[in-house]
Amino acid sequence: MDHFLYKNGVLCAEDVPVAGIAAAVGTPFYVYSTATLLRHFTLFDEALEGIDHLVCYAMKAASNQAILKTLAQAGAGMDVVSGGEYRRAKAAGVPADKIVFSGVGKTAAEIRLALEGGIRQFNVESEPEMALLDATARAMNTVAPITIRVNPDVDAKTHAKIATGKSENKFGIPISRAREVYRLAATMPGLRVIGIDVHIGSQLTDLAPFEQAYRKVADLTEMLRADGHEMMRLDLGGGLGIPYARDNQAPPLPSDYGAMVRRTLGHLGCEIEIEPGRLIAGNAGLMVSEVIYVKSGEGRDFLIIDGAMNDLIRPAMYEAWHDIIPVVEPVPGAEQAKYDIVGPVCESGDTFARERMMPPVASGDLVAFRSAGAYGAVMSSEYNSRPLIPEVLVRGDQFAVIRPRPTFDEMINRDTIPEWL
Ligand SMILES: *Cc1c(COP(=O)(O)O)cnc(C)c1O
Repeated sequence: MDHFLYKNGVLCAEDVPVAGIAAAVGTPFYVYSTATLLRHFTLFDEALEGIDHLVCYAMKAASNQAILKTLAQAGAGMDVVSGGEYRRAKAAGVPADKIVFSGVGKTAAEIRLALEGGIRQFNVESEPEMALLDATARAMNTVAPITIRVNPDVDAKTHAKIATGKSENKFGIPISRAREVYRLAATMPGLRVIGIDVHIGSQLTDLAPFEQAYRKVADLTEMLRADGHEMMRLDLGGGLGIPYARDNQAPPLPSDYGAMVRRTLGHLGCEIEIEPGRLIAGNAGLMVSEVIYVKSGEGRDFLIIDGAMNDLIRPAMYEAWHDIIPVVEPVPGAEQAKYDIVGPVCESGDTFARERMMPPVASGDLVAFRSAGAYGAVMSSEYNSRPLIPEVLVRGDQFAVIRPRPTFDEMINRDTIPEWL
């Protein structure tokens, strides 16, 4: 459920007509709904009611300061995967004890940054990282709270590029070696081992792989306790999927997920952390674009729009499907047209949809990509020297630009010319 609906024949973001935002900021742009962001966060928070828990938004999904602040004010913690994200979380006012540091390649500088600024915990992904973290913490006369990310070897049944929980993936340590690695961690005075972390992938549309993984985590928790380790916290990762196509089978509800967490892990008395990204931000954002040309092709027409793969890379990178709708509500029962929807970038991969049936649109019309809030703006680039597109946040009947479109001069002047030229 989101807050992008047709009202009086025009698509609105909450109470703001999308065409009005387009007139103010130009196309293409991203627009996010505050009510949708908060609704999704609250659903998760309520799903775990009664268990000691923290919802740490995986901010790599959408990391604009205004989005982080919206969620932080509602009580969210943050899952960060880089020093840059750590700084962003701090800048948005997230308290250090609500920031979790994940990622396979934390550098010495990033580790120092988080130890200096404070951290809820590091989710450690390898033995070399453990050794560096231990040495760094000791050199700083401090102790780093850690969980160890275990790879439970379950098939998340999602796109290969976003599956992370099989033994061939680069993430975590194999669960079969967990006891040995925990034993080693316990000998390191710079570390305080407080729990287990697991994250098996993204855009999962079924609870079964989660349940399989969490049962393994439950068994491991009891085994590690028997070995004498303190196990107070379980970080269960993110990964719950969203419906990209409206006729898709609906992914599990946060409430069903919460019930499954209780069922599999509730008896352990651990504090639970979850790290949803996509499910909080995905359906809270649209990318809005204008049709430049409708070009006739053989057996199909091409809709050439001013948004491109550099603005929204998911279709090119993951074969992702986005619902693409006209901003003016189509007349009910109107005939559908068949389009290949493409951007202007000089790559055949700059294709958003092939042979897509949708209401006919014309040059100058606006179209909206639904479910573009997560892994949209954050993955954008300036390929083809196309400026990063603006981000807009709506709340009720108000909207604000939360990242302006850079000018061409700003973009060009970021380059510096060596003296010899
Ligand atoms: C990407 C990621 C998440 C969030 O995944 P979503 O599918 O967006 O919920 C959570 N935890 C970790 C460690 C991640 O890498």
